[in-house]
Amino acid sequence: MKNCIFCKIVNKEIPAEFVYEDEEILGFKNIHPEAPIHFLLIPKRHIVWKDEFDEEDLTLLGRLLSTAKKISKEKKVFEACKLIFNVGKTGHITHIHVHLLGGWGEEKIPKYNV
Ligand SMILES: [Zn+2]
Repeated sequence: MKNCIFCKIVNKEIPAEFVYEDEEILGFKNIHPEAPIHFLLIPKRHIVWKDEFDEEDLTLLGRLLSTAKKISKEKKVFEACKLIFNVGKTGHITHIHVHLLGGWGEEKIPKYNV
């Protein structure tokens, strides 16, 4: 989508510090981190929240979560991390994305932070 900041990152029109990339999914550091580790994972295809996802979108959403788990293991934050989807009027970016937050250490995990 033309004016979508995440599509621009996918198309390398806006720079980002990538932490993961495959054919369908891109992971990069949030430029305004809310945690010691704060990555964003997005499908490369512009998908927005809707009531009924088609099968292809659902598969991609599942892959997004399994990729988040894989990255959290690689970064050694899997034992204490959060995966967060912002949905509806919580933000200005409609392109589906999952926040991966971690790195606080188990005793210091905030209840809410995004
Ligand atoms: Zn987009």
